Amino acid sequence: MKILSGQKASPGIALGVIHYLKRRKPDVTAHPADDVQRELDRVEAAVQEAVRQLEELRGIALEKMGKDEAGLFEVHAMMLTDLDYRDSITNIITEEKVNAEYAVSKTADIFAQMFLDMEKDYMKARAADVRDVSGRLLDVLQGNTPFLISSEKPVIIAAKDLSPSETVQLDKDKILAFVTSGGSNNSHTAIFARNRGIPAVAALGAALDETCNGKEAVVDGEGAALYLEPDRETVEKWAQRRGAEQREKAELAALIGLPSKTLDNREIKLFANIGSPGEADAALANDAEGIGLFRSEFIYLESKNFPAEEEQYRAYKKAAEKMQGKRVIIRTLDIGADKQAGYFGLPHEENPALGLRGLRICLTRPEIFITQLRAIYRASAHGNVAVMFPMVASLWELREAKEIAAQVRSRLKAEQVPYSERVPLGIMIETPAAAMMSDELAKEADFFSVGTNDLTQYTLAADRQNNALGRFVDTRHPALLRLLELAAKNAHAVGIPIGICGELGADRELTQTFIRMGIDELSVPPPAVLPLRKHIRGMKVD
Ligand code: PEP
Ligand code: MG
Repeated sequence: MKILSGQKASPGIALGVIHYLKRRKPDVTAHPADDVQRELDRVEAAVQEAVRQLEELRGIALEKMGKDEAGLFEVHAMMLTDLDYRDSITNIITEEKVNAEYAVSKTADIFAQMFLDMEKDYMKARAADVRDVSGRLLDVLQGNTPFLISSEKPVIIAAKDLSPSETVQLDKDKILAFVTSGGSNNSHTAIFARNRGIPAVAALGAALDETCNGKEAVVDGEGAALYLEPDRETVEKWAQRRGAEQREKAELAALIGLPSKTLDNREIKLFANIGSPGEADAALANDAEGIGLFRSEFIYLESKNFPAEEEQYRAYKKAAEKMQGKRVIIRTLDIGADKQAGYFGLPHEENPALGLRGLRICLTRPEIFITQLRAIYRASAHGNVAVMFPMVASLWELREAKEIAAQVRSRLKAEQVPYSERVPLGIMIETPAAAMMSDELAKEADFFSVGTNDLTQYTLAADRQNNALGRFVDTRHPALLRLLELAAKNAHAVGIPIGICGELGADRELTQTFIRMGIDELSVPPPAVLPLRKHIRGMKVD
């Protein structure tokens, strides 16, 4: 038995036989071209054929996977028709007087390197796209049939790396897992695998090669390991674990589409918290009824400078579209305290948790706030979007934030930019002041969502970053529960909903209490949705 370890790409366990996918390598050596025009014509015809294939694949992906994955093929078609890419091929053919295959291959190397030299991981991962489209072009030029996998029984698909178009062509019923010697947890194979719940391990190294074809193996997605030719004991151990995993999954999957209702018919909505638009897939896969907290600061923390309106718009739109009409609550920027982005140039603070953070920054630097609100409102034209302000302590803060939002709307209207007129503006209840003032705040906010992480820190005067506080941090402290109850009572007095989006929402010891308080929605990490639904459906409240 040999154990290879790699990068975690998608959780889950698989036992089976490896099917190593090997591409037919196109001949890309340079040959002198007798007729340069002919080579240029060949490229032109090949591009047209490749674009046709991509359109076909887009159709398949749209049907099998969804808009997002299908969009990749559009991007590929755009890459093929990109002028810089095409000019590079043309120039190599005309200047070096060589064959089309060589020019395409050289162009692929240049462009892939350009992406690999970029700083951000997701841009680096685009190198695989360039290679993918170029490979397609080469296959067309050489008359190779598109990459297809034929195997009777479900197998563990192994490869150096898999391109998006290769992945989409695979028959899902025949795939037990993906293992790749290259790639990363950011690669398309990893993303596809996660979206479809297929175990996957990337970057297993050169030991995973063609010689592994036909060998028995165990894939441990969570542990990012591949057990090659496992002994009996190992097989038994993992078969047992997989059995338990499958039973648990099936049990939870059976709850998809069912209401989160107690035995005595008390219903509560279960939403998911996400930190990037891609995570909406996990929310959907786990049957979240909406996004209760989209932490928008990821977009600021990943940037080297203030993210532009367009970039933000695309991210929010993506999340809104993915959720297909389900509510997506986008929390406005919550930078400050433990989440620092250097380019904000915030002054050093003695007590950053009590300093300029969240909405306080937005009201102090309205230009940043306006850019974000414009992006969110524009995205609201593409789904069911709501906005939520963090760190509210006073009524005037909510009023000022709403006033800026109104200005943004009228500006968009004047510019004839589409946005939805029905975007609820809610607040987080995460300061004791907001909970105490919740009667007044409720009259002017469209909804409440309790951020118990901060509400605990501010109520108990206990720094959430400080591990040493131990027993002094009681997340179920009566003071906290009283504030929650007060906020729920005040919300309902004027008929607005209240949810919980802090970690406490997933605390099963308190689910009953929350339902009794009349909390309308709990927003928890995506994998916690179905287990919580199971818990709710098995309990009685009264
Ligand atoms: C909270 O404070 O409970 C919350 C959900 O927000 P964050 O954890 O992002 O501060
Ligand atoms: Mg908070």
